[in-house]
Amino acid sequence: MRISAFSDVCLRVLMVLAEPSDPGLTTARVIAERVGTPYNHVSKAVIRLRELGLVEVVRGRSGGVRLSAQGREATVGWLLRRLDTRTDLAACETPHGQCPLLAGCGLRTALGRAREAFYAELDALVIASLPHGSLAGPVLVGLSTRPD
Ligand code: SF4
Repeated sequence: MRISAFSDVCLRVLMVLAEPSDPGLTTARVIAERVGTPYNHVSKAVIRLRELGLVEVVRGRSGGVRLSAQGREATVGWLLRRLDTRTDLAACETPHGQCPLLAGCGLRTALGRAREAFYAELDALVIASLPHGSLAGPVLVGLSTRPD
């Protein structure tokens, strides 16, 4: 099971904002430097995290981003479920047609159950409580990522 690169960036952003040494507002540019991710990717992540109620954005010269109360309690499983918009895990149906095995395929159902089990394992893992070292390199060592 892989998480998307976008999901990984969202998790990194929340981990940075959860640092006790940095309780105030942090700009997207600073976050981008801290997580080693291009600014435009971080900006998109912040927009989505704001939509989900996990961060608050203050505009203006002294503005920035901070965790919301909900963001402090969000779990990895909760967030990944909301960021995973895939309805077709194995490309059963594509613009070029359907898999010939689609009718009554047991694998398709099993893949759906496996995804649910993956998220269920992460439902109790609070993002803000994750240790993350210096955040200079890749995070989420236990999870692999894929390019979007
Ligand atoms: S075999 Fe089943 S899971 Fe795989 S592409 Fe076909 S319908 Fe989908």
